Amino acid sequence: MALRLFNTLSAKVEEFQPQQDHLVRMYSCGPTVYDYGHVGNFRTFVFVDILRRFLQQSGYELKHVMNITDVDDKIIRNAAKQGVTVGEYTKKYEQAFREDMQTLSLETPELIVRATENIPDMAAFIAGLEQKGYAYRADDGSYYFRIAKFPEYGKLSKKDFAGMEVGARVDVDEYDKDNARDFALWKAPKPGEAWWDTAIGAGRPGWHIECSVMARKFLGDTLDMHLGGEDLIFPHHENEIAQSEALTGKPFARFWVHARFLLVEGEKMSKSLGNFYTLRDLVLKGHKPSSIRYLLASVPYRRQLNFTFGGLKQAASSVERLRNFKLRLETGHFEPGSNPKIAALAQTARECFTATLADDLNTAEALAAVFDMVREVNAAADAGEVRKNDIPPLLAVLTQFDQIFDVLRDTDAPKIERILEWAQKEGNLDGVSNGRADVYGTLTSKVSDQGVEELIAKREAARRARDFKASDAIRAQLAEAGIIVEDTKDGVRWKRK
Ligand code: AMP
Ligand code: ZN
Repeated sequence: MALRLFNTLSAKVEEFQPQQDHLVRMYSCGPTVYDYGHVGNFRTFVFVDILRRFLQQSGYELKHVMNITDVDDKIIRNAAKQGVTVGEYTKKYEQAFREDMQTLSLETPELIVRATENIPDMAAFIAGLEQKGYAYRADDGSYYFRIAKFPEYGKLSKKDFAGMEVGARVDVDEYDKDNARDFALWKAPKPGEAWWDTAIGAGRPGWHIECSVMARKFLGDTLDMHLGGEDLIFPHHENEIAQSEALTGKPFARFWVHARFLLVEGEKMSKSLGNFYTLRDLVLKGHKPSSIRYLLASVPYRRQLNFTFGGLKQAASSVERLRNFKLRLETGHFEPGSNPKIAALAQTARECFTATLADDLNTAEALAAVFDMVREVNAAADAGEVRKNDIPPLLAVLTQFDQIFDVLRDTDAPKIERILEWAQKEGNLDGVSNGRADVYGTLTSKVSDQGVEELIAKREAARRARDFKASDAIRAQLAEAGIIVEDTKDGVRWKRK
């Protein structure tokens, strides 16, 4: 079934076909490694992952390039402040990002490329633009893109820049959304900040050039797909188009697909609002990676995802429901034979799952198709209507589902463990709501003795402080983890259920 996607460039849902047989050449803008990735970033990376997996399930081969932005204004400034090199500064965050990808079960793109390893290519690209009259050198040695020479500027973001100031320049990486200015391709060195020596002189790349250069170098002049979050449409992707198409004279990407920005508890995520969560923050607050992945994947990429803790809880129970259903199929006792009604349910779920994902990657409808099947099969099983031969096709639907959503295998425990170890090493546990024990509390099968002791001590402290709300909450948490607490005249005792 043909995949249809919303192409930001044409502003329409279009049928997607790669240029070449079954190979999809795609590029997605990766992380800027100046800090730990937050849940908004991962909303977009999970969308890219779901698209990757569905393309593969549909029979395509992928050549997917993702960049690591390991040089930009913020990185250079922070590295200079800390007195370390750019490489030293970014190493830790790049490593953390790769671990976070594993935490969320994100597939690794075929190629991950660093901006700093492609700087000579960027210089050559800029020299090519200068030769064609699209780039000019300022007195200080910086290079700018002459947007007046590229009349199609604005075609992606649908902005009308008629009447813009010719020759006005902007040299910061992130700028005002309505500003049509000649943007920096290359920036002259600033005192005390990192620079590179290249064929076009000393300096550092502007933010946008890296993607034009690395996309072309590793995927060719015209990509099948270019992906990112919607904030990148302008200026980043608009500028990529200008740079690439000015140089090659060919379309840069056939499909531009953007994920809508995520909100947290109905608001734009920001540190000042206190609603800014890294992936690691969420895990340390006791949320399983599988619940986070499920929640981020469950809202179709073009719909606004409002990330809430209530939603996370629901996601966790949806995952549990699916895992229980799978267990029931695998371990339940079913009479021999087959029931055509069940075969039909599996068939419908299978077809609906594919059709809804092919329809602009409607993950919400795809999940609904699976849950309809789960509900009806559970009811049929309760009534003794499911037969042995019905099981394989039902399990096949779950396999098809999990090739995309990847939440059925329980791989949470070691991932949580790794984040706990990291937090302890970094001394980050103080910020965690209930400390180590709280996180263990979510892993009911794995709550350690030490975790229980810690929680009991916390509960005692709360009681002494006459904070009965807190002490009751801890007791409930322990109960949920299968721990029975008894207050005796000799003190508190506990045992496992
Ligand atoms: P950055 O690390 O800032 O370069 O961003 C990496 C990716 O995360 C980009 O594709 C951004 O568009 C995306 N992104 C950043 N914030 C959000 C958000 N709140 N919701 C969705 N995507 C986001
Ligand atoms: Zn980019």
